[in-house]
Amino acid sequence: MKIESYIRDIQDFPKEGILFKDITPLLNDPVARKECLSVLVASLKGQAIDKVIGAESRGFFFGMLLAQELNAGFVPVRKPKKLPYSTISASYDLEYGTDTLEIHTDAIKKGDRVLIHDDVLATGGTAKALGELVEELGGEIVQFNFLMELSFLNGRDKIAGNPIFAAITY
Ligand code: AMP
Repeated sequence: MKIESYIRDIQDFPKEGILFKDITPLLNDPVARKECLSVLVASLKGQAIDKVIGAESRGFFFGMLLAQELNAGFVPVRKPKKLPYSTISASYDLEYGTDTLEIHTDAIKKGDRVLIHDDVLATGGTAKALGELVEELGGEIVQFNFLMELSFLNGRDKIAGNPIFAAITY
């Protein structure tokens, strides 16, 4: 089965010039979703994971599935003022704009082995911010994990030196 066939291209969303990779057909198909999850898990080659970090909002879907499969905690990283407890934050550049991400200060313990997940690696700004949050809390990054990498945007340069996996590369 080709996971690619469950990713829908939407031209000029959310603004002109962006080719948006829509994962809703993948979410909507239980067989494709399971196959995709098994590809993501296989990339870890049995490495132990304490926490899976998912970026708001499309990183929550497979982030949560990964956490369940890996018997790990799940940590939502969210846009500002969404998380109720004490937080730290990191700012980042997006393919379309700039933003800030927050994480609960008690979400990761020093030495936790962390898997960082998001749907798309584009320019790498989001991933870099996620990595900074994990490291500030003392977590050890085991892998940056994505459904898709838009390799022509060279996002992996921003998180160089870390293991990076994407199920699909464009
Ligand atoms: P970046 O920080 O540029 O690597 O952008 C990654 C974040 O923006 C991810 O959370 C994605 O959900 C979203 N994103 C960026 N580009 C796209 C795209 N072409 N299609 C879908 N989502 C995207």
